[in-house]
Amino acid sequence: MTQKVPKVKFIIAPLNETCNIIYRYLTEGYLQSWCDMIYREYPKLREKLENITDNKIRKKVIYEFFEELFKNKKPLLERKTKDFQSEWNKINDDIMKALSEIVELDWPKKDKEFIARVTLNYICICNIKKRIFDVFYKQSFQEMKETCIHEISHFIYYEKWKQIFPKTKEKEFEPPHLVWHLLEMVPGIILNDKKIQRIFKNKFESYEEYRKLKINGRPILSYIQKFYDKRKNFEDFLKKSYEFIQKHEKEIKII
Ligand SMILES: [Zn+2]
Repeated sequence: MTQKVPKVKFIIAPLNETCNIIYRYLTEGYLQSWCDMIYREYPKLREKLENITDNKIRKKVIYEFFEELFKNKKPLLERKTKDFQSEWNKINDDIMKALSEIVELDWPKKDKEFIARVTLNYICICNIKKRIFDVFYKQSFQEMKETCIHEISHFIYYEKWKQIFPKTKEKEFEPPHLVWHLLEMVPGIILNDKKIQRIFKNKFESYEEYRKLKINGRPILSYIQKFYDKRKNFEDFLKKSYEFIQKHEKEIKII
């Protein structure tokens, strides 16, 4: 019997959520390149925040900045949400099936609908547990699909991971834990699989931090790629990759 696959519903990201996320990124130290990306998109925001150290005031400045922008962009956000929805619908079922095949796991029955929020935030966040992720409103169809596939791959990967490593704590799926680092390295490997590429041709890459990282003079991603190419099955790939990054925890944790 063919499995029932989840659908994706596109909505406009609520303004207060967008502000909270941006505030968090610009205040708590995540990957530096992510902060830079937000400022590159919104240089005026950088200027406004430049000399403000008080977090309460920073929050207010961020909120006012995006409130104004949200008002102006509302019609565009509405149109984008509609367009993304109809464009994504064309590949949804095939992608969901391909991801399930790659990870060698059926979609859980509870997974009927994922929420994609079209947002003013350049950084696309993802809540694996709540099955919600963001898509930047300026993205092209190609970029939007790339983001969706990346984030949705996290959902099924997470289910598979919990099956193989049931003792993993929820917080380990977040920075700065090793389990999270591997979760973010893997899309740049598994999404270039033919199973995805024949539906959606695209070069998937892992974050710059991982692409630059070398272990014994060799890019870390080339090791992970080798584990994937030589895997007996997906479980074998995960176990070998995890063992490897645990061994090199020190080098990875400096990111
Ligand atoms: Zn990700």
